[in-house]
Amino acid sequence: GPRVITRNNHNISRQNISRAALTVMKRLQDAGYQAFIVGGGVRDLILGGHPKDFDIATDATPEQAKVLFRGARIVGRRFRILHARIGREVIEVTTFRGHHTDGEEHNARQSEHGMLLRDNVYGDLESDAKRRDFTVNALYYTTNGFAIHDYTGGVEDIDRRLIRMIGTPVTRYKEDPVRMLRAVRFAAKLDFSIENKTAAPLKELAPLLRNIAPARLFDEMLKLLMSGQGESTFELLQRYELWPHLFPDNAVQLGNSPTALALTRQALRNTDQRICADMRVTPAFLYAALLWPAVNAEQQKLVEKGTPPVPALIQAAQKITSAQLAHTAIPKRFSIPMREIWDLQYRLPQRSGSRALRMMEHPRFRAAYDFLLLREECGEIEAGLGQWWTQFQQADDEQRQQMVRKLQ
Ligand code: ATP
Ligand code: MG
Repeated sequence: GPRVITRNNHNISRQNISRAALTVMKRLQDAGYQAFIVGGGVRDLILGGHPKDFDIATDATPEQAKVLFRGARIVGRRFRILHARIGREVIEVTTFRGHHTDGEEHNARQSEHGMLLRDNVYGDLESDAKRRDFTVNALYYTTNGFAIHDYTGGVEDIDRRLIRMIGTPVTRYKEDPVRMLRAVRFAAKLDFSIENKTAAPLKELAPLLRNIAPARLFDEMLKLLMSGQGESTFELLQRYELWPHLFPDNAVQLGNSPTALALTRQALRNTDQRICADMRVTPAFLYAALLWPAVNAEQQKLVEKGTPPVPALIQAAQKITSAQLAHTAIPKRFSIPMREIWDLQYRLPQRSGSRALRMMEHPRFRAAYDFLLLREECGEIEAGLGQWWTQFQQADDEQRQQMVRKLQ
């Protein structure tokens, strides 16, 4: 049975739980169902943080739960869940998952590689806990008794600061290779270690990431690199040899040039700092930096064969972008500005006449300027032009005219 940690023996306070989550739990319980906060919410409550969202697990089926919440919607195919709306907040309600047994092919499916394609077999609290990924993500808290229910040793692992896979790591990674990325993500985010048996298969199984849909990998990549711990996450992804399966062209360049490594690290560090300071970040900028060394190398090859620099850049950008698409999808709303950032690197040096002033009107000027600074910072190009643009932006009209005149 579970270890039950009663209200006097844990530090979870109802104050740190959103009203919406409490309302959903209460309404399910009043209707005679079990209801628990589960996953990241409980983990982060125990760690003393303020969870960004709360998921609820229940023994009610999605259909049974749906009628309790006006405007609720059942979503997902691979994984059917209910979105319950309370005020402006959406709470995800999932029905306890169960073990897969024969005769349930309709509700659960596995690929020939052991990958879970559908997982809609219902079960009880214990089976639900065991099909979750890591012990620290499999804790349940209920206001009905105010206790934590722990089936997998998650409370102890939080104390020891360990990411430990539930069950046999190899099997669980094969079921869903994204769990490899999740292990690294939580280790970086929580500053935990990955327990030895959980870490051991990572390098060997890394190629399984090839079987994941690029759109899902893109979503996962955002969580990995754009949540404030991008740099340390990158180091872990490298250590466990997962990085080459996310950004193969970047990985090749990391081996070729110290500048590529410096650029990659610095781009991630800047992103982390901006997130920490509540500033806007965009995948367009990060992708621009991650793919730039490969675009550069490709462009150089074309130039050596006689193609002029700008058409060479366009061709190189095209080639490297479409290669990346096969791994992590890049939605158009990011790939277009990414390529503008690259194009503008060739326009930033051209400042004569009214060009500099017009340049500042370009919607991508700011990002392109930041990118130029990044290239100078990591020594890809000589410093100087960035400083000129910094001054130009701060200058008044007369000073600007002078700056442009001095260029000749
Ligand atoms: P975060 O704070 O980053 O949202 P989280 O733990 O809430 O972290 P989610 O991705 O929101 O992570 O998933 C919610 C919960 O669902 C997890 O805590 C885990 O129990 C379970 N889960 C999510 N993805 C998987 C997976 N691929 N395999 C097994 N269990 C998973
Ligand atoms: Mg979550």
